[in-house]
Order: sequence, then C-alpha cells, then structure tokens
Amino acid sequence: MTPLTPIVGPVSPLSTERLAVHPLGITDVTVTGGPWARWQRLNRDVTTPHALGWLERDGSVDNLRKLAGPPGDAGPVGGAGSAGGAEPVPHRGLWFSDSDVHKVLEALSWDLGRVPSDQLARAVHDLAAVLRAAQEQDGYLNSYVQGGHEVRWDNLVMSHELYCKGHLIQAGVAHKRSTGEDTLLDIARRAADCVVRDFAENRRKDTDGHPIIEMALVELYRETGEDAYLNLAKQLLDVRGHGVLDPKGHFDSTYYQDATPIRDQTTVVGHAVRALYLLSGVVDVYLETGERALLDSALRQWESMQATKMYLNGAVGSRFDGEAFGDAYELPPDLVYGETCATIASIQVSWRLLLATGESRFADSIERALYNLFAASTSIGRDAFFYNNPAQRRVARPAAPTETRPQRAEAPGTRPRWFACACCPPNIMRTVASLGAYVATCNGTGVQIHQYLPATLTAQTGAGPVNLRMATRYPLDGAVEVTVAQGGEAAWTLALRVPDWCRGATVTVNGRPVASAVAGSAGYLEIRREWRAGDVVALTMPMPVRLTVAHPSVDAVRGTVAIERGPIVYCFESPDQPDGVDLNHVELVPDPPPAAESREDFLGQPVVVVTARGIARDDAAWDGRGWATLGETPAAAGREVTLTAIPYHLWANRGPSVMRIFIPMWRR
Ligand SMILES: [Zn+2]
Repeated sequence: MTPLTPIVGPVSPLSTERLAVHPLGITDVTVTGGPWARWQRLNRDVTTPHALGWLERDGSVDNLRKLAGPPGDAGPVGGAGSAGGAEPVPHRGLWFSDSDVHKVLEALSWDLGRVPSDQLARAVHDLAAVLRAAQEQDGYLNSYVQGGHEVRWDNLVMSHELYCKGHLIQAGVAHKRSTGEDTLLDIARRAADCVVRDFAENRRKDTDGHPIIEMALVELYRETGEDAYLNLAKQLLDVRGHGVLDPKGHFDSTYYQDATPIRDQTTVVGHAVRALYLLSGVVDVYLETGERALLDSALRQWESMQATKMYLNGAVGSRFDGEAFGDAYELPPDLVYGETCATIASIQVSWRLLLATGESRFADSIERALYNLFAASTSIGRDAFFYNNPAQRRVARPAAPTETRPQRAEAPGTRPRWFACACCPPNIMRTVASLGAYVATCNGTGVQIHQYLPATLTAQTGAGPVNLRMATRYPLDGAVEVTVAQGGEAAWTLALRVPDWCRGATVTVNGRPVASAVAGSAGYLEIRREWRAGDVVALTMPMPVRLTVAHPSVDAVRGTVAIERGPIVYCFESPDQPDGVDLNHVELVPDPPPAAESREDFLGQPVVVVTARGIARDDAAWDGRGWATLGETPAAAGREVTLTAIPYHLWANRGPSVMRIFIPMWRR
C-alpha cells in the first residue's frame, strides 16, 4: 500500500490496513461533462439558493439566531432546557430542524471543495457565525433544547440531539477538508467534546434514537487524530441493541435498531435511514479498529438487504409505517415508502464496504441507486424533491399537499418544493456536490474505475502519480474511453468495473484488443502494463434492452417484468402512451423484444426511450367481478398498442401521471 494522503471528500480513513482500495477525493476526480456535471452546476446555481431561502423561510436558521445573546454579551440566551427557569424561546418547525442547517452547510462545503466561490464561502461563514453565537460555553448546541422545549440529554430516544451534532460534525469536517479552514470545525469539535465529556467511558450508557453520530465521530477522529472520538463511536455501537432506549409511542426497539446487539444482527430492520446510517458507522469503526465482527455484521446485513429488501430502482425501506424495512420480499411497488435519504444512506454503506473489500458488487449497488431512485428524487429543474418515492402510481390526480412529512394515504405524484421535515433535499445536495468521490479509487497496484462519466482524475499508485481522462456518453451507450495523460514510472493495473448487468464487455488499448485483460474475481477487467501518456483504453459494454423479473417470492410483482437498459430502470408513464390507454390495464408482449430509440431532446436532454408491443386489455367480460374460479375466468381480450417506456428518473416532470415500473406479461 502506498501511504494514504487525506482526501477532500467523505470517508478519509486514517488507517490503511483494512483498505482494499483507497478513496480519491473531489479534488482528485473532477466531473467534466454529461448529466452529473449538469446536475452539479444546477446544484450550485439553483438548489443552493433555493435551500438557503427555505432555511430562512421555515425558521431553521432563525431558531438558532434567536439563541444569540445581545451583542457583546458573554453567551447565548438559555431557555428552561439549558440555564433553566426562563420562558421557552419560540421554535419553528420540527425539533431537529438544526440538522437541515448543518446538512446544507456540509453540501456547501463540498461544493466549495469542488470549485471555490466567494459567494458560497460567505454563505458558510454567515451561517457559522449564527452557530457560534448560539453555542453554549461548554460546546452544547441545539436550538430546541436550548430554547427550553426539552431538557438536555433527557429524551434521547426522541430528541435527535446527537443526531443534530452528528450532522454538525460532518459539516465541520467537510468544510475543513474542502477549505483548510477551522471556522466550522471548531464549532463542531466543541460540540463533540461536550458529548465526549458527558458520554465517554460509559458515563452515560444510552445513545440517540437516530444514529449518525457514530460515523460523524469516526470522521472527526480521522480529521483530528483524537482517540476519544473513535472510542466514543465504538461505545455508542456497543450500547445499542440492549434495549437502552425507552421506546415511546407505538415504535418498538426494533425501529431504533435497539433490539439486537449490532454484532448479532443478521438483517436490516426498523427505520431504514437509521439502520443504514448505523451500518455506515459500523463499517467506519471497523476500518479504523479492524474488529472483524463489525465487518461481518455489515456484510451480512448488506447482503440480506440487497437480496430481499431492495427495489429494482434502488429504493429501500418499503413500509410507510415507521419509514421502515419490511420483511424479506415485502416489496409492494405502489405502497413503497422508499425515502430518498434511505437510498442515499445505502450508497454510504456500499461505499464503505467497497473501500473495505474492493468488490464491484458495492459499486453496482451505488450505480443502481444513483441512476434511478436518487436521480428521480429531484425534478429536472433541481428545485423540487421527492421525500418518498413510488415505484407505481395508479392515479393521475394531484396528491394531497405534502410539504410536510409524507402522508401514508397516498404516494406522491409530483415533487414538493421543500418539506417541514426537510432531511432529503440537503442530503441530495451533499451527495451531488461530493459525487466525484465515488468514481474511482487507487492502491499500490493501480487505479480502479467504478463509475463511468466524463471526468479527469489524479491518483497515487505504486508506480507514482498518474493522470487519466475519461470520456463517455454513458449511460446513453456503453462506450467509455480512458486516455492516459500521465503514465507513472512503472507498470500498474487499470481496473475497469464490469457492471453486473453487462455481458460481453470488450476492451482495447490503442485500438488493439487486449487478450490479457482479465476479469478479476472482484468484478473488474484488469489491464496491467507500463502506461505512456497518450495511451487510450476503450471499454465497450453492450447495452441491449433487458426484461427483468423479480425474485419469485416478491408476491407483489410476480408475473410481471420491468425494462432495463444499462444501469437505467425504465417506467411507463401516462403522457407517453397512446390516447385511451390506461396503464392499469395493459400488458407487455415480449415478442418482438422491446426496442431502444434515441431521442435527442426529451425534457431538454438526450435520452434513450424504449418502445414495446403491448395489449390494452379489455376487462369488460369480468363484468364487475373481483375474482373468478380458475377455469371459469373470462377469455383475455384487448387491442394491440405500442407502449413507450422512459427512464424512471425522468418521471413526474410533466404534472400528475399514472406510472409503473413492473408490467404484467401478456399470457393468452
Ligand atoms: Zn429524508
């Protein structure tokens, strides 16, 4: 292993011992074109001012601002929760609204690391000044508790106090890595020290109802080298699973991942975002301590999730009730919850496991999440968002207003501009801003490319520094060209991920087929040679339209198929179908096979749509009956139509619609 240099990006391990591959940061990998570069640009130009505006409008910043004492005063004003006795300071929004501010700060910080900006830097400094003025002398910071609405550490099962601090720490670390400045890190560190003082060395034996502090503390340990943060992260993993949280309301210990000790857990359970933030922390603690039982638990849970609790579009957490994972194969497409944050959290777990193992299955999962649910979570204008993400919608009427926490009654059909519980939009922002960090890795043997997009990258290998340039129209087609700009001083291996959906990938170097390119056990084509500047590697991944079926135990979609092409999951949406065709009464005829069709301008971008032979079913013979005795069912009838499928991530950009991913197969 080459010595590890800290990266500008999330997850910068201090210890190299457990890393199969080293991360590269957003200053090492620059996204230069294509849909992701476009999104990064809009993330800065549209989403950022939109989010900053909403944080003011919904009171999130004001809640903190109100805590600042008068100018020249020694410290913040305190309500009953801190100093005691005073009238509560009015608080707007949910009790964990501070976390929205912290998360936006993290997003802005990564974006500053990507491309500096005076305007963004000012926005960060202004918000940091608000936090500094609100922070108690001992480092404690929480507008709801300080405002007197709760007593410090008194209701950890619900209060989200460590959760909010976790997001503050992540913001401070991001800002430090991106800018080298301590402005935000100092605030975060004082907050973390306050937690260490009160919790470390088992001074308290409980933890927060909502994980994230664990992975945040590990990142702070990485940034500062301070063992206390890592030790506390481990302690907070250890205490969980022993019923330390006193459940309130109708959620039980399973919801809080507090029913089973983390090392004994076999599958993901409970609130999906909590489960996966916790799992990210588990892998982080493993990466720094080497405790194998933690990695084994994470792998077991990830494998179970991947095989039995994940949707084709990358959604996880199927139940509205408790925003939770369901049982194995409980994956209804119309009633799926599929919170955007849960899919983002799955990316965070997969990325850590990829670093630990170097196996492509984790990059495959990240790709599925990124190109499908994650991309669909935001409007093409990038200023409206899905909190929960349907995989099927039966009606085109507008959904009930959802600028609050999502309602169980109905899946949303259009994206609200913001939410009272605004966890998802800033989570999307920070992921988009730091996307370059998920593209490639390096180690002593060479460079591994996990995601294909136009980019430049610089990496340290055993053969010295290398520079590469990647050009592609992926995922419109499967051709990727990697040009060596700086080749290193000796032979090294370029590893190119062969996605799990891909059959028959071929590779050439300078136009000549490479017979020696080997598909390694980890799922990568590996080319080892002495590289020279100007060498061109061309990877070709055939991208036929595929018909996909779910595991036979997924009762909700048995007998149906979905369309995929490359990493893209398709859906049928009502605006693209012939007049009079109701997507609730259609079936797909697989012969001839559905065909890909390029559209140069679909919703403002080049897209490959898929046309398929279908039957618009006539169910009149059922005559209003809901069921029939087998053998007496009415003969199937209908007319032939051409159905059009579009990439799922583009749905719901043309008003309320009927949409489905899985469609029944026509059987006469
Ligand atoms: Zn969310």
